[in-house]
Amino acid sequence: MSALVSASVLREWERLLVNRSRPYALQQRDGSYRWLWQPLTRQLLADHLAGEVTLALSSLDGTGLCRWACLDADAPDGLAHLLELRTGLADLGFAGVLEASRRGGHLWLFFTDLVPATRARAAILGAMSRVYAQGVAPARVELYPDTDRPGALGHAVRLPLGVHRRTGQRYPLIGSDGRPLTFSSTEASVTFVLAQARVPARWLHAHWEMPVSGDGEQPHAAPSATRSVVIRWVDAQVSPLDLLGELAPASALRPMGQGFLGWCPFHEDDAPQADGSPGTPSLYVVRNARYGWSWRCLSTHCRLSEPPMKHSFRLLCELLGCDAQTGIAAARARWPSLKEKTP
Ligand SMILES: [Zn+2]
Repeated sequence: MSALVSASVLREWERLLVNRSRPYALQQRDGSYRWLWQPLTRQLLADHLAGEVTLALSSLDGTGLCRWACLDADAPDGLAHLLELRTGLADLGFAGVLEASRRGGHLWLFFTDLVPATRARAAILGAMSRVYAQGVAPARVELYPDTDRPGALGHAVRLPLGVHRRTGQRYPLIGSDGRPLTFSSTEASVTFVLAQARVPARWLHAHWEMPVSGDGEQPHAAPSATRSVVIRWVDAQVSPLDLLGELAPASALRPMGQGFLGWCPFHEDDAPQADGSPGTPSLYVVRNARYGWSWRCLSTHCRLSEPPMKHSFRLLCELLGCDAQTGIAAARARWPSLKEKTP
């Protein structure tokens, strides 16, 4: 079929988007996706562009690397939010391609090379927090890859320029003025995407700090190992969000990716950066099904930025400025169910 797109353009398209050739997902008539454990051929990529099938591909390769990231906002005002986010991220060096979707939009960030998903996620979440700190109102956005575990199958994201099987529509790319872009041919639209600026992988490595994630092999705190019943109880039962809300409300934590990000109370978090750009919130709190709540500061200027992640009792002590002994007494006084427990 389709000679809609030349072989050389198709090759570049493949290099831009395909993290792994197997499996790939096909969108079904009801809009859902089904994984197929077969090799993805260029013909299938061409068929997607021709609107004959609709492909969604893993946001990761088999070793935890990715060629792109996609921000997905599917609220009714998602597209408007992504427009603002695109401008803010582009100012920080993350040029993106915005595409409308059935309910909102997809903001694609293409990398010049494969990048570890851990790195990509941390950099993008960090950049988003800067954009939000500069006044763009945060909204619910999913970031794909949604995991950075090597070997994991990344969430499938529908490739750009395809036809949504449920609505039969091809959702347009969106220009900087917020209006749909129109193209004279499929090849012209593909060529347009290929010509857009990409995020340099080297720059990402050099300028964006390594990270933390809710889910990866990252420096999670091990489950609380202390023998103190009180400390273990606090670590298991008390949310850092509640502690910060009560003892450091200025931290103003907000949902960010799989966790929460706010102003760190333990260093001068709102001071301008070395290059003069505004400070950014860097206290990261996350809840993980296996390890429970944990937290740390993402700023290298902070004494609390060293991995691993820390638990709630440590946060209590840091916020009260006390040692563990005093912290245990404070916890007893604060939570009545601890009164009778031995230290
Ligand atoms: Zn800090």
